[in-house]
Amino acid sequence: MSKRVVLIGHPVAHSLSGAMQQAAFDAQGIDARYELWDRAPIALADAIAEVRGDDFLGVNITIPHKERVVPMIDRLTEEAQATGAVNTLTREGKRLVGHNTDVPGFAAALDKLVGRQKMPRQAVVLGAGGGARAVVYGLIRAGFLRIVVFNRHLHRAEGLVRHFGKSAAHMDLKAMPWHESIIESELARTKVLINATSIGLTDDVSPIPGELITGDLLVLDLIYKRTRLLRHAESAGAVANDGETMLLHQGAAAFTLWTGQPAPLEVMSQALADARAGGVTSAEGEPAGEEAAVPEAVSPAS
Ligand code: NDP
Repeated sequence: MSKRVVLIGHPVAHSLSGAMQQAAFDAQGIDARYELWDRAPIALADAIAEVRGDDFLGVNITIPHKERVVPMIDRLTEEAQATGAVNTLTREGKRLVGHNTDVPGFAAALDKLVGRQKMPRQAVVLGAGGGARAVVYGLIRAGFLRIVVFNRHLHRAEGLVRHFGKSAAHMDLKAMPWHESIIESELARTKVLINATSIGLTDDVSPIPGELITGDLLVLDLIYKRTRLLRHAESAGAVANDGETMLLHQGAAAFTLWTGQPAPLEVMSQALADARAGGVTSAEGEPAGEEAAVPEAVSPAS
């Protein structure tokens, strides 16, 4: 019987993960079907109950459920526990194990961003959701000594900082209110800027104005497309990478967890490129926004 793997998110239409994982299953001769389940937060618990069934090989969890799903899972791996976020599930009988493969995905993306330079020590992170948790964890592990997290809702960034309290005891991890002047002054003393908000995912808008980005920055947008933020960064002469590497490597790690086999990276990468060429441009399922006239920067409070 064909096994089922599902992506649970809201929304999930046009997911790139579907194309990438199905291509990997087909290439390796694994009889599995990757399905997209659009489930609003209120329907998440029922979806999690359903995937305990024997026909399921595994699950991906995406925006906006990565933190919310944690209490519904029977066992968390060290990385899921450390981040407080889960993006992949495996089954142990009827029990579900929560993993966070965004962590190795981000590690690969950070390595690529930094390239041959010395690993920087300061970073600014925009966003405090499930993706941001993998980012902050990865930065702490990579030896960063100052990380400032800005978020529209400050309390969520403060919750993130509290969560990492122990592992960040030796360094400066701060939550700050989203004010352009504060972001500007933090950027002046940082080397790495990471967008872990979903601003730019469905509309061609940037979380911060282009003038704030200087040429010496390394800029990573977790969104898998050439966002307005990345175009600003390129114009300023900064290094600018999108979320492709992270998406590919989190997907590869999930594939291995489900199947016990090494992931066919080339096949998955090609499937991503094909899906993108076919007009799918978001990392996590949302359809691309209209390329209409839009403001230069979006106010996170709006
Ligand atoms: P969450 O829903 O957990 O978090 C969303 C984040 O975006 C929060 O910080 C939220 O702020 C912020 N946000 C959303 N809309 C707005 C807005 N209009 N103005 C200001 N802030 C906003 O999602 P994830 O953390 O799971 O994902 C975040 C992004 O990262 C997505 O675009 C996702 O596609 C991408 N991602 C990519 C990955 C990859 O492999 N390339 C892996 C993981 C994530 P607030 O808390 O104030 O609501």
